[in-house]
Amino acid sequence: MLSLPESRLLIDGDWVPTATGETLPVEDPATCETFALIAAAGPDEVDRAVRAAEAAADPWARTSPAERGAVLRRWAAAIAEHSEELAATEARDVGKPLGDARRNIWIAHDMLVYFAGMADKVTGATLPSRLEESFGFTLAEPHGVCALITAWNVPALLMMAEAAPALAAGNTLVVKPSECAPLVVLALARLGTESGLPPGVLNVVTGLGPAAGQPLVSHPGVRHVSFVGSTATGRAIVRGAAERLVPVKLELGGKSPNVVFPDADLDSALPAIAASIVENAGQNCNAGSRLLVHRSVADEVTERLATIFADVKIGHWDDDLDMGPVANAAQRAKVEGHIAGAREAGARIVTGGSRPEGERFAAGHFVQPTLIDRVDPSMAVVREEVFGPVLTVQRFDDTPEAVNLVNDTGFGLQVGVWTRDLSRALRVVREVRSGQVSVNEASNVGVIGLPFNVTKDSGFNAGGGYTAMREYTSEKAVSIRI
Ligand code: NAD
Repeated sequence: MLSLPESRLLIDGDWVPTATGETLPVEDPATCETFALIAAAGPDEVDRAVRAAEAAADPWARTSPAERGAVLRRWAAAIAEHSEELAATEARDVGKPLGDARRNIWIAHDMLVYFAGMADKVTGATLPSRLEESFGFTLAEPHGVCALITAWNVPALLMMAEAAPALAAGNTLVVKPSECAPLVVLALARLGTESGLPPGVLNVVTGLGPAAGQPLVSHPGVRHVSFVGSTATGRAIVRGAAERLVPVKLELGGKSPNVVFPDADLDSALPAIAASIVENAGQNCNAGSRLLVHRSVADEVTERLATIFADVKIGHWDDDLDMGPVANAAQRAKVEGHIAGAREAGARIVTGGSRPEGERFAAGHFVQPTLIDRVDPSMAVVREEVFGPVLTVQRFDDTPEAVNLVNDTGFGLQVGVWTRDLSRALRVVREVRSGQVSVNEASNVGVIGLPFNVTKDSGFNAGGGYTAMREYTSEKAVSIRI
């Protein structure tokens, strides 16, 4: 693994301890063993980081866009060179199979390359004039110091999706990664500074949400806040940002359905639907946690999915099988609480529902992939984000009922539509309230630069992809009397 100075924060290009020396343990979720310590930052360290980012902001914004792009490309090359170590770091931290982490590191790398190429393509507009002697245009300018607070499930990718466009657009950044999986973010930041990011341009403060995240949101030097995490914390972030009227970008939870019509190609649909809830042990914001299936094929689909679930191979990160544990004890308790609640309310656990047996699973936070049929739309397991490998099955009779079921949730992140009928697919695409829709896939896997949009309780101002440079700049309107 990439070596990191233990219990240090990255501030102004230096690895520094906290004033109190307080630390937090980082645990392998498969064994519950502490394998690293991180610094527990508080308001003082956050203040130092924001001041460093403020001091670096003007010089970085004035650095030629081509040079900014070149630094980011060097950073991407360093990530490619160290991709195996980064993947191992993320895999152990989160508990996910090494192969999954490897894929995530390469997506993070590709994002960085994509946005490095955008650094010198930030443009404004020239507008028509009513008068011969007036002339108008817009300038896209960086916000200044941006704050980024992230979740633990795909830490490298979540960091890069924001850090790459923010830095390419000429902003400086203070990142507060999740205390649950911070190491790969620190490792990426180490490679960034070694690749030529000037001191203060990228700072990382580790620590708990209320102690390190909250002071970051309320710091007067921060001009933009990006948050990836739960809906509950998202509301607290918005309240904090409202006090200072800074723009906020929120990417929150989901309760994403896969909708299976009778004409769907089940051979391709079912493995993808299973993978969308098994991957990362269901701990993805866009995990396909609800299956909505036409009554005529519901029994067949449920049976076949049960077989796929029962075949899922569970292991530690370095076993590199299909699925690892969930992230921590609280997360497992939440998942098990949902399964128990559904069982008590009369739902049928088709497969899974308990912890896997065996010595290898005794100490970690493992849960079996669980398929739950005969659920009621009012049950918590259908309404709330479980963030675990749990899939519920609901039946429908026609397209309007399917659309109603899709929309019967507070969340609005992702919908997968499975049908060979293009007209029906487009009707569903138009009628569902969701930031993203995929047809004959569970989520976007191939389209480069497609925004990661969200709506309703899943957040707002998200996007990224080809729209990201707009989010990380503010537009200045200029008019000139000639
Ligand atoms: P969380 O909300 O508990 O924590 C997210 C981050 O916020 C962490 O860094 C945490 O330390 C920090 N935080 C906590 N309280 C804070 C406060 N009061 N002020 C400032 N910061 C605070 O979320 P989590 O459990 O780490 O992640 C899981 C959630 O993230 C799920 O709901 C998942 O759907 C969501 N998520 C969303 C996306 C997306 O793109 N929409 C991607 C990944 C994860």
